[in-house]
Amino acid sequence: MNVHVQRTVSPEACPALVLNADFRPLSYYPLSVWCWQDTIKAVFLERVNIVSHYDRSVRSPGFEMRLPSVVSLKTYIQPSRNPAFTRFNVFLRDRFTCQYCGARDDLTFDHVIPRSRGGQTTWENVVTACAPCNLRKADRMPRQADMLPRQAPFAPSVFQLHQNGRHFPPNYLHESWLDYLYWDTELEP
Ligand SMILES: [Zn+2]
Repeated sequence: MNVHVQRTVSPEACPALVLNADFRPLSYYPLSVWCWQDTIKAVFLERVNIVSHYDRSVRSPGFEMRLPSVVSLKTYIQPSRNPAFTRFNVFLRDRFTCQYCGARDDLTFDHVIPRSRGGQTTWENVVTACAPCNLRKADRMPRQADMLPRQAPFAPSVFQLHQNGRHFPPNYLHESWLDYLYWDTELEP
């Protein structure tokens, strides 16, 4: 099945939280949500069960349906063990903090070993950096610039991102989702 997720969640889209067949979110980062159109399509294709509803309905002649707010897949999908190497996940690994000065605003990425010196765009060579630090370091090696990241960049596990993610929940959470998200409790690996 084509499982697609989106990161920016707008309440107007009446997104449904998508749970795996074991009732855990299919994905945390980004949080697995579908817009209502995709959700209803999946309901009609009998790929999901409806777990909870919005108060809002969609209507067409002879048809009315309350929009699902939580659905669960009928078939279990093995979650990926390795988080995707994305902009958001790098920030999350670094707790949305510049790895050089600790700033939390104006965040960008920095290649620790500059690309011009053969540095790769990988978990192990990319860190969160504020724009001023990024500019200051420029194309220099860390020691040359006297700028070493506070933590050596690494490829995080899903568990490590979950731990950090508890501090940075998405900007939109429908109340019916809260039973299935564990922002305030210890997450299992
Ligand atoms: Zn900085």
